[in-house]
Amino acid sequence: MMNVLPTGFVGLVLLWILAMLLVPLWISVHLGNKKGQQVLGWVVGTFLGWIGVVIMLVISPSLDAQRQEALRTGFPCPFCQEPVRHGATVCPHCQRDLGRQ
Ligand SMILES: [Zn+2]
Repeated sequence: MMNVLPTGFVGLVLLWILAMLLVPLWISVHLGNKKGQQVLGWVVGTFLGWIGVVIMLVISPSLDAQRQEALRTGFPCPFCQEPVRHGATVCPHCQRDLGRQ
């Protein structure tokens, strides 16, 4: 009975698997890496597909990922080591006067 199936059926199935399983998994894992949520990215990408991608898009980055992002655009406070934006005169974390930067 397999030969009554249209030619390229297996190809279509593989394409379907690729589009509905592998692509959303890849995107979820990529977003998870960026937001410091690697494990969550794998889980939602594997079990939820494109819904998982939406979840990874709306989820907030982990505190560590936020800290890394803040340090890229600023500098660590000399008193508490928390990231502070360039040009800030008062640390938003410990409230100490940073003077002119
Ligand atoms: Zn501080």
